[in-house]
Amino acid sequence: MNDTTNSTPDRRKALKMLALGSTGLFGLFNSPKVRAERHETPQYQKGAPPVTITRVRAITTAPGGSNLVIVKVETSEPGLYGLGCATFTQRAAVVVPAVDIYLNEFCKGRDVDNIEDMWMSAYLSSYWRNGPVLNNALSGLDQALWDIKGKRARMPVYQLLGGRSRINVDTYIHASGTTVEAIADQVQKFMDQGWRHVRIQQGGYGGVGAFGEAVPDFKAANYARQTDGYSDAAEYLRRVPRMFEFMRKKCGEKVELLHDMHEQVEPIQAINMIKSLEQYRPFFIEDPFSPENMTWFKQLRTSTPVPIAMGELFNNINEFKEPMANQLFDFIRCHISQLGGITPAMKVARLGEWFNVRTAWHGPGDTSPVGHQANNHIDLAVFNFGIQEGQVFNDKVREVFPGCPVIKNGYYIVTEEPGLGIDINEKEAAKYPIKYSGMNTLRKGDGGIIKP
Ligand code: MG
Repeated sequence: MNDTTNSTPDRRKALKMLALGSTGLFGLFNSPKVRAERHETPQYQKGAPPVTITRVRAITTAPGGSNLVIVKVETSEPGLYGLGCATFTQRAAVVVPAVDIYLNEFCKGRDVDNIEDMWMSAYLSSYWRNGPVLNNALSGLDQALWDIKGKRARMPVYQLLGGRSRINVDTYIHASGTTVEAIADQVQKFMDQGWRHVRIQQGGYGGVGAFGEAVPDFKAANYARQTDGYSDAAEYLRRVPRMFEFMRKKCGEKVELLHDMHEQVEPIQAINMIKSLEQYRPFFIEDPFSPENMTWFKQLRTSTPVPIAMGELFNNINEFKEPMANQLFDFIRCHISQLGGITPAMKVARLGEWFNVRTAWHGPGDTSPVGHQANNHIDLAVFNFGIQEGQVFNDKVREVFPGCPVIKNGYYIVTEEPGLGIDINEKEAAKYPIKYSGMNTLRKGDGGIIKP
């Protein structure tokens, strides 16, 4: 009697398990442990218990020379994690405790799904609005959560941002040299490889070598650091129009030419020089003024129609909301991790759409390959994409970052991998420790500092 009464519920339970799917036999096959062994990410399911954050940590590496900071967000789902770029290359070591100490505690146990809420709560809970260190840490978290969301949806992140607005991401590449002939050779080489846009720099920051015949010996004067840069503004202002003239003569009209001023001359000098470049049809001139000189834009805009890119040093929407709404420049040049990741960058991009300000996200070697992937996914999705600063990564960087983006025919090729489509090999990353760096002080001949 007892046997019968005991076995009946057992049989019923077994039948129920078979019938219930995810909570029955299927559930056994689909348990987190088994899925992890199969290297499968569980798809988002309505009503399923939340996937929570178990740990947030920073990984530092410098395989390409620049200090890079990556954030890894680990979750309650075995094998499921996300990566984000938190690279503030000049102060990389300071971002690490912001991630490992602060963000780790802040995020533990929270649902991975609610990115907007997570971003806002992390941003506002410091009471004083974030500066570059906390913004970069937050970007690492934000991008990693988008990566996780993509993996759970089994879709590339650009699909979650609205899908494609274009086939591939058009890039520009850097040509620099000490002579105009050397720069023209590089431009031609890049054109032959398929690029349609090339940034040209001669000497100084962003170029090769210094301007002027006599570079001051700051060390001998017992002033400043010998490694500090030097810029001769007058020489710079003479050279740039000659460089453009030479490129147009040598390389023709088919290539789009860009130039970054790096804010290194007086605003009125910048306006005069940009005006003189009109005849060479620049695609854009970047960073004519330091962020402290924003009011000069009005005079620049009424003086010349040369397209302008600005915003590399912006890190808070209050710095660029008004200039964008007043169409004071044509391309917004934010460093996405500096803003706080994909979430705020999408808002900047959408703001630009209404004022016909196009995107040109910062993308040099001190944006990690994870950050480049974040740029690329946004670039594919937003309507008002302009151009993307491209980077050709060396073999060491590729070994550290499996899935590192590649450029073909001048276009970044974005794969269909779920999430951001990039990983990190931590063993390889550890081979390239970060170094103290970031003293990019630029000086005049008399030793006075030039504001970037
Ligand atoms: Mg720049």
